Amino acid sequence: MDIHEYQAKELLHKFGVAIQPGFMASSADQAVYVATQLGGWHWAVKAQVHAGGRGKAGGVKLCKTYNEVRRAAEDMLNKRLVTAQTGPEGKPVQRVYVEVADPFETELYLGFVLDRKAERVRVIASKHGGMEIEEIVASDPNAITQILVEPAVGLQAFQAREIAFELGLNIKQMARAVTTLLGAYRAFRDCDATMLEINPLVITKDDRVIALDAKMSFDDNAMFRRPMVSAMFDPAQSDPREAQAAEHNLNYIGLDGEIGCIVNGAGLAMATMDMIKHAGGAPANFLDVGGGASPERVATAFRLVLSDPNVKSILVNIFAGINRCDWVAQGVVQACKEIEIKVPLIVRLAGTNVEAGRKIITESGIAIISADTLTEAAEKAVAACGNVHKLATTH
Ligand code: ADP
Ligand code: MG
Repeated sequence: MDIHEYQAKELLHKFGVAIQPGFMASSADQAVYVATQLGGWHWAVKAQVHAGGRGKAGGVKLCKTYNEVRRAAEDMLNKRLVTAQTGPEGKPVQRVYVEVADPFETELYLGFVLDRKAERVRVIASKHGGMEIEEIVASDPNAITQILVEPAVGLQAFQAREIAFELGLNIKQMARAVTTLLGAYRAFRDCDATMLEINPLVITKDDRVIALDAKMSFDDNAMFRRPMVSAMFDPAQSDPREAQAAEHNLNYIGLDGEIGCIVNGAGLAMATMDMIKHAGGAPANFLDVGGGASPERVATAFRLVLSDPNVKSILVNIFAGINRCDWVAQGVVQACKEIEIKVPLIVRLAGTNVEAGRKIITESGIAIISADTLTEAAEKAVAACGNVHKLATTH
């Protein structure tokens, strides 16, 4: 799970990391009001999206007047921002962050990542902040300092001092950098983060150390015990279909093929996608409806799969162990009654109560193509796709 810059800053501030005064705004009027409340002479208006590279894409504007603040907010809000990290479709901007913009001397880089291979938190720092870490590494691999944190004791002050020394800080700056490093590490550890990037971390003329940007990602599996963090989730920033699936506890990942897949169990879903490929087709999605697929969940799964306009046939592949084929069949029939399914539907059922399941499907009178084996189901789904193509070209 990712959060916005303003949320990450709020969180880091609680752990003693210094930030510029600022507030979130969701309208241009509000942005101007924030600027008047903050005082000062310069403000940064920053688009809040779950992606970096905003500076280069017009998502960060430095403003000298309230009018400039208004214009910057108007230009950003309710539009999609495309940066090098968002993909061509961009991300929606529903909030901007308005913060004080004071001059600074140097831009540094500070990052924390969970290094799975080392089974440790890795701290990465560099004198060359402001650019992306990949660019820093490419320009000068020696410009990076890294340390691994021993989990039993956490990040130690001497390690933080070592990093600050490598960054070339003076004695006054060093004490503040140590507070920042230790605070950021505690925020990372205590909130179950997997990534924290402060880029740039700036040093001002009067030796203050300030986090000017902040990005944080968290371990989804730990969010149940971090309500303060999970409350920051912004569904508008993720793929709407994946967000809808998550709401119903379904595991959905959109792909770019033509055959919609509804499968129970992640392993079987992977095997189904392989078999579709093997038969010469391409899956439109990965979808695991889980072990106890109730009729309601199957219906939701259909709605999700059909919301993808590329889908030309749907393959339902259920191996019922904990589940029951008759329940799934009921779900399929219910979904067919509730939703208008205009593409061929191929169903393969196996396992518990398979006979009862097949009977429900046959007696429903709905045009469903049945298959006994996975190979047969995949072949039929691919062939049905081809028929849709032929129909489309003859009309
Ligand atoms: P991104 O990483 O998405 O491009 P940043 O928050 O890092 O966004 O902003 C890009 C650049 O804009 C920074 O490297 C910094 O030079 C400048 N900037 C951002 N916020 C401020 C601020 N409050 N005051 C002054 N300059 C800022
Ligand atoms: Mg940045």
